[in-house]
Amino acid sequence: MAVTLQTPLARVLGPKTAGSMAEQLDLHTVRDLLRHYPRRYARRGEMARLDDLQVGDRVTVLAQVKSVETRRMRQRRGSLTEVTVSDGGSTLKLVFFNHRHAHLGPGEWGLFAGTVGQYRDRLQLTHPDMHLLRGDGDDDDWARALVPIYPASKDVSSWVIQKSVKLLLGAGGGLGDLVVDPLPEEIRARHGLLPLAAALLDIHRPTTSEDIERAERRLKWDEALTLQLTLAARRRAAALEPGVARPRRPGGLLDAVDAALPFALTEGQREVGEELAGELDRDQPMHRLLQGEVGSGKTVVALRAMAQVVDAGGQAALLAPTEVLAAQHARGIRELLGPLGRAGELDGDPEGTRVVLLTGSLKAAARRQALAEVAEGRAGIVVGTHALLQEAVEFADLGLVVVDEQHRFGVEQRDALRAKGTRPPHVLVMTATPIPRTVAMTVYGDLETSTLRQLPSGRGGVSSSVVPAAEKPAWLDRAWARLREEVAAGRQAYVVCPRIGDVSGPDDQPEDADGAPEENPGSDRRPPLAVLDVAELLRAGPLAGLRLDVLHGRMTPEEKDAAMRAFATGETQVLVATTVVEVGVDVPNATVMVVMDADRFGVSQLHQLRGRVARGKHAGLCLLVSEAPTSSPTGLRLASVAATSDGFELARLDLETRREGDVLGAAQSGRRSGIRLLSLLEDEELIAEARAVATALLATERGLADHPGLAAEVAALATDERAEYLEKA
Ligand code: ADP
Ligand code: MG
Repeated sequence: MAVTLQTPLARVLGPKTAGSMAEQLDLHTVRDLLRHYPRRYARRGEMARLDDLQVGDRVTVLAQVKSVETRRMRQRRGSLTEVTVSDGGSTLKLVFFNHRHAHLGPGEWGLFAGTVGQYRDRLQLTHPDMHLLRGDGDDDDWARALVPIYPASKDVSSWVIQKSVKLLLGAGGGLGDLVVDPLPEEIRARHGLLPLAAALLDIHRPTTSEDIERAERRLKWDEALTLQLTLAARRRAAALEPGVARPRRPGGLLDAVDAALPFALTEGQREVGEELAGELDRDQPMHRLLQGEVGSGKTVVALRAMAQVVDAGGQAALLAPTEVLAAQHARGIRELLGPLGRAGELDGDPEGTRVVLLTGSLKAAARRQALAEVAEGRAGIVVGTHALLQEAVEFADLGLVVVDEQHRFGVEQRDALRAKGTRPPHVLVMTATPIPRTVAMTVYGDLETSTLRQLPSGRGGVSSSVVPAAEKPAWLDRAWARLREEVAAGRQAYVVCPRIGDVSGPDDQPEDADGAPEENPGSDRRPPLAVLDVAELLRAGPLAGLRLDVLHGRMTPEEKDAAMRAFATGETQVLVATTVVEVGVDVPNATVMVVMDADRFGVSQLHQLRGRVARGKHAGLCLLVSEAPTSSPTGLRLASVAATSDGFELARLDLETRREGDVLGAAQSGRRSGIRLLSLLEDEELIAEARAVATALLATERGLADHPGLAAEVAALATDERAEYLEKA
């Protein structure tokens, strides 16, 4: 039977190799393998790269054997063979015990793969996997200037992949029959793109670096276009849904909110507010992303939109990522609404509505009552966590869904909540992580965007510094002294640690330290500092006498709420916490944020944390405590966080550092939404072009009807995405 893209690899490669590929690299079909691109290309004369190697890196090098020496070992029985390889510049030592590979001869070229180790100041590979390039038989690799190096695994080395791909590509490049190009000829010509078969051939077996570049451009286009088509389809489907207009009604909740606000809205808040008010008034559901710096005042914008919907007879739901944050939102909204938020209670205003908090930790009776108020429509405003998504939660007339801090929620969760409307509700997504344009076009590509650029005036601003605790221990003392000064002046402080502490084992993983680049996995750094330990140390020493409390994810919701409340009222002066304070927590009197082991957090996370202070009129101080050397990459990363308060700049830095891991070899294979080659950082222009093409293609009557290839790609992506979501769930 003819081989097609869907043919299982087991039918082409033999069961053992195919089995390992499936298990270890997630490659199952011919299509998967053809889309498993080289990570880089080894060239002769590139050993200079070896100077950048670090102990623990997994590498593959292309080099020539210079010398082979075998000798008896003095301390142990047996012999040791040292092979020195070089590419003309740098040299590297390969070490074998007991005559393994003593047959290597000087002058031979080969690929050597292994984990970099160190012996007496010299880097070496011990018992590397190797593949000699002898130019014999059908092995024409030797003749090639560029040898592809693939993301490999324990049992599937780069050269096994290379051989397998070669088998598929066929001697004369018989890809033409195998691969049907999904891209319409006209688009290909207009954007100067290679045919798919040619691109695949070139990416796997290039002759020149121009081959690679052209192939990559074409293959990136596929990725960008498929993604943009998916998103454009979503936008279109959303635009066709009939929604319900929720026009403004004077004299209602919204006017009451405006009258009760203790401050004037910023210009940005007013403008975005108008934009939202207008869209809510249309019977086409709004799908909008509101991005704004930490502290730019997104909550009040959302609340005003919610009030408008309630005034028009609908309900509004606010989905928050944590219980602490949900409780804080509910409390804040209730305070602001006063009697208008307590309709049906003795002191409530019958013209008003009710605010219900729905979280996973509600006791059965309270939960039943909350569900009833939501289902019967008495609760106009419903605030909650994931618990809102559960099936039991039914709304009388859901008119608006607000998702706070979207980066914690997937599209599927947004959709789950949306589905609770009898007719599609309006959707407002808020994020404090400033989003580079490319990310906005991809991850959030199905939403229109509004941005709050301005912080409310009268803010003190935050100054940040790195405290290199190992190099300058005295600075840490100074940090605690500064904290004491602030508390003495009536202010409050957070101390954030990566871990909770007290118990060991899997339960004490760093609490949600997502985004922190793992530098040396498996190395023996000391465990991250823990809230409970640090709190005890501070109580006994540097912060003795201050009113100090802890907050972390292992406390019950009641305990958390009590701790937050005590901090909000000023009863607690210093709150030692995990990243549960990262998202949205709002205590304007807090001015100091000390982050312990700051190097264990990601760039965006540090920026978020810092946004917790100086939310009032006082200036804030953020101290990033770390033992990392100031001149190390980690130290420099912290220094840039301290140096800039521009969230967009930091979001970029975050994207860059997340890729730190795959510079020389740790790259993982993976399907991440079908993106293998596309870089959100570097391919901005290409993504924008693909977006325009996708929008144009779908704007026609027939959509993708004339482009079955593209339609199939989009369908395949949808399947992968769904699979990934299921895995996560
Ligand atoms: P974020 O955008 O990070 O969610 P919040 O909505 O929590 O920010 O607002 C941060 C703080 O600023 C809150 O204490 C809020 O009451 C206050 N705030 C919001 N808008 C204004 C304004 N126009 N003037 C003064 N303070 C404001
Ligand atoms: Mg917020």
